[in-house]
Amino acid sequence: MPAPAIEVNRLSHAYGSRRALDDVSFELTAGQSIALLGPNGSGKTTLFRILSTLLTPDSGSARVAGFDVLTQAPDVRRSIGVTFQSPSIDRRLTVRENLIYHGRMFGLNGAALRRRTAELLDAFRIAARADDVAEVLSGGLRRRVEIAKSMMHRPAVLLLDEPSTGLDPGARDELRRLFEQLNRDGVSILFTTHLMEEADPCQRVAIMNEGRLVAIGPPRELCAEIGGDVLTFEAREPRRLAQLIGPDAVCEAGVVRVERPAAHRVLAEVIDAFDGRIDAVHVGRPTLADVFRRHTGRGLENGAEEN
Ligand code: ADP
Repeated sequence: MPAPAIEVNRLSHAYGSRRALDDVSFELTAGQSIALLGPNGSGKTTLFRILSTLLTPDSGSARVAGFDVLTQAPDVRRSIGVTFQSPSIDRRLTVRENLIYHGRMFGLNGAALRRRTAELLDAFRIAARADDVAEVLSGGLRRRVEIAKSMMHRPAVLLLDEPSTGLDPGARDELRRLFEQLNRDGVSILFTTHLMEEADPCQRVAIMNEGRLVAIGPPRELCAEIGGDVLTFEAREPRRLAQLIGPDAVCEAGVVRVERPAAHRVLAEVIDAFDGRIDAVHVGRPTLADVFRRHTGRGLENGAEEN
């Protein structure tokens, strides 16, 4: 069995009195992807910075590609490709130049550097734009260049902080396919996100809230644990409707939502009782947002920090 790509063991970190990470443990199998999903302030970036050796944890340990982030930081840095939230490519350079400069920083040169650059231009489908300055590229293409750049030195593990921020759905899809290809090539990926749509297609998701890991597993399994149907109602008097349905019905942003083992058993009853005052009904399977709610008692989208 190969060593796990990432092993996090009882990791904690505080900024002054603010606890940002609280006793977090998990593993990522080599060649797989994991999404760290959580609202703003849940500790994702703190964990990301510890794994990329930019921040020393207060307690606990972490290994990346088999190396300890504290005692073997240079080995960790050689084994990881990192992309940060803020773009790091030079917009005045061409796509090819961006890759070449980064390769040089990692000691590549001559034919090996040219070969690796050509390989990545192809693999990331940016060869046609190789001689364009980065500035003129779309956000999605620029993100691909950035990830290609971080892969120049053939890292075993790719760490990405909110990689799809600002990308349209098409570019997000493209990024997902790219990750799948990288996994097939044996690269392990950890990325942070606050969007459940992004975590959904991932092999595993680690859900974070207030510095703690609240659930971890394949998204489909986590959703299946909740089971049943999720009903949402748009109605004229949502609070009254929520009261009528029962204490477990919640009213958020004017929409009433409730989980039930079987939707059809409640639907007719509710529509009859609230006759003429319901504008729309939606029945769906539980999502990662429902998993988050089950574990934290609040919505994923309501995670804005209260400072
Ligand atoms: P996320 O990436 O999920 O938004 P962070 O790891 O950035 O979460 O933040 C976790 C908590 O730590 C938040 O409460 C945040 O305000 C706090 N925090 C993050 N960075 C700093 C810092 N440099 N100094 C003080 N507090 C910080």
